[in-house]
Amino acid sequence: MEKLLEGFGAKVFSETVMKEKLPSPVYKKWKETLSKRDALDRTTADAIAHAMKEWALAQGCTHYTHWFQPLNGTTAEKHDAFLDKSNDEPILKFSGKNLIKGEPDASSFPSGGLRATFEARGYTYWDCTSPVFIKDNILCIPTVFVSFKGEALDAKEPLIRSCEVISKAAVRLCNAFGDKDVSEVKPVIGLEQEYFLVDKDKFLKREDLLFTGKTLFGALPPKGQELETHYFGTIPERVHAFMKEVNERLWELGIYAKNEHNEVAPAQFELAPIFSEANVAIDQNHLIMEILQTTALKHNLVCLLHEKPYQGVNGSGKHNNWSLVTNTGVNLLDPGKNPHENVQFLVVMCAVIKAVDTYPELIRLFSSCPGNDYRLGANEAPPAIISIFLGEVIEKVLEQLEDNKPSTYEKNSLKEFGISTLSYLPKDNSDRNRTSPVAFTGNKFEFRSLGSSMSASKLNVTINTIVAETLNEICDTLEAHKYRQDVRKAALDICVDIIKNHRRILFSGDGYSSYWVEEATKRGLPNIKTFVESIKYMEEKKSYEVFMKMGVYTKEEFFARVDIMYENYYKIKSIEIKTMIDMAMNKIIPLANKNIALYASSAPYTPHSITKRIENIVAYIDSTYSSIQELKNILTASASFETYKEKGFYLLNHAYPFLDKMRKEYDDIEEVFDYSLMTYPKYDELLYSIDY
Ligand code: ADP
Ligand code: MG
Repeated sequence: MEKLLEGFGAKVFSETVMKEKLPSPVYKKWKETLSKRDALDRTTADAIAHAMKEWALAQGCTHYTHWFQPLNGTTAEKHDAFLDKSNDEPILKFSGKNLIKGEPDASSFPSGGLRATFEARGYTYWDCTSPVFIKDNILCIPTVFVSFKGEALDAKEPLIRSCEVISKAAVRLCNAFGDKDVSEVKPVIGLEQEYFLVDKDKFLKREDLLFTGKTLFGALPPKGQELETHYFGTIPERVHAFMKEVNERLWELGIYAKNEHNEVAPAQFELAPIFSEANVAIDQNHLIMEILQTTALKHNLVCLLHEKPYQGVNGSGKHNNWSLVTNTGVNLLDPGKNPHENVQFLVVMCAVIKAVDTYPELIRLFSSCPGNDYRLGANEAPPAIISIFLGEVIEKVLEQLEDNKPSTYEKNSLKEFGISTLSYLPKDNSDRNRTSPVAFTGNKFEFRSLGSSMSASKLNVTINTIVAETLNEICDTLEAHKYRQDVRKAALDICVDIIKNHRRILFSGDGYSSYWVEEATKRGLPNIKTFVESIKYMEEKKSYEVFMKMGVYTKEEFFARVDIMYENYYKIKSIEIKTMIDMAMNKIIPLANKNIALYASSAPYTPHSITKRIENIVAYIDSTYSSIQELKNILTASASFETYKEKGFYLLNHAYPFLDKMRKEYDDIEEVFDYSLMTYPKYDELLYSIDY
């Protein structure tokens, strides 16, 4: 254990390391700059760069990189050696300028039209709110990525803006309640990462997994997840060895990897670190995803981050636990012992309710990606309808508030639950309701619709921005009152108002039931079935204006993201279709033919059941050929549209029936295919290869 602590964070240029390695005036200057969010002066930057270089070289680094998050949803790095040439001699060099600013040739990253080719340059700037670290002997400097004109070309810059926006709004609120010590409020998040593992040799035999990250064909084996024996079960030995190595690598990077367990589906697992500041947590989640993938390979495994690798068993999400913490250490979503008297808590809670109910389409979209379509709204995951589950206790408090019941009554009623602290009870309640896309879990909101493969950035940009807008509106009213009692009274009135007007978003029943789909429609809640349809909602003024008003995205930045999402959808869907065609043509139909030959070889003695099988396979082949032809035509037709939006909608409206048909027909016929003739693994081999 001591060794663990010794090694923890060894690869992070943390504040402690800075304090130790930097001359005191430089360290002080850096701290001051950071707290004021000023630009670093050249001398300080040079001194920090020098210390960083020495530290990195001592750990065996040869290169550095500006590590950034372009709009393709992943991270990017271009390595530069410390090696340089001076008077024909090799030297090692890393200056303040190298640290602060980079100019990657960024013309191939998606920019949604933000960068015309004549000004295709992008610039990276050090984001000193997230620590520098070493990965594979490369010194990685987290940076924001912006265009020549300063437009955000990445996922990080808007996130930082949104953190500032929510901080200002929440500080206003605390100050309005008389807490003048609060000068900064940080959104903190904990991201639970779900993933699947599959044997690498098996993975490589499936084009669908290789090219799309999911299986496009395959019937469930006799045993799926119905016995729920995998969930929290003993972790298979091979996986345990993998997890151990993942943890070691994460701990070195100062990431508090805390929980690991088997998830619901066979071969599905979860890793959760301890929550941290949003910006750092999202950087670290990128590292977690990368390390899961690279470490898996070392164990001859492949880590699947896709939202729905297998049909018929649970998909993977990335639960996004979100709360707000003040510089004085208070979690604004902590109800404390007496939530009914904790007016400030109630206001923040209601602000989230109002924000989510005002912008459910934004939450829906920004937790989605093409892969999440197979998971959201499917009957095994949070539905595409956004609703909030508060838990019995908090709901009761809000109800009483609305009914204007005296607080003594509330107190008694709370005692009925027989608990002294409330913070754990709602959590238990919400665990019972795992069907809700947004749940209040004790002292945080858990947004569960986010896809497992996605960057958590856009969702948190959205949550921060819309909650900030609501808090600002509330503060406009509260700040008009001078006395504390009046502020509390006004705040309670606002809460009552919000509950009355936004009750429709609250739902504690079974989110997977058909009852809820009907009920939600009655309540007027949007049920946007697919990712591409949800992008369209962004064209409504209501969707984009809030970001502009709050200064988080400019209109150009926002619509650049919309364009990229359309493009992404079309490209991903096209790859799926092409892969499906390719697999059917080159693997499945030949297999079907071999089976016909096999069955036919017993011809003289053929019983009726065998002839029937041959007929079925022949019919299957014919039908598949015709679907393939249809899909090819649809792909060609889609390409002729001008915009990605049109192309995407064309696929949505035309290709889906054939994709479904092809899959269903294959899944039905698979059981008659002779096992020994198959050149690719079936579901049972994929799902159970690492457990047993
Ligand atoms: P589960 O959802 O499986 O019950 P937990 O509630 O223990 O698990 O935590 C899930 C994640 O939420 C973890 O990453 C944890 O660090 C994080 N978390 C816990 N408290 C907070 C909080 N106040 N704000 C944000 N995240 C939190
Ligand atoms: Mg959870």
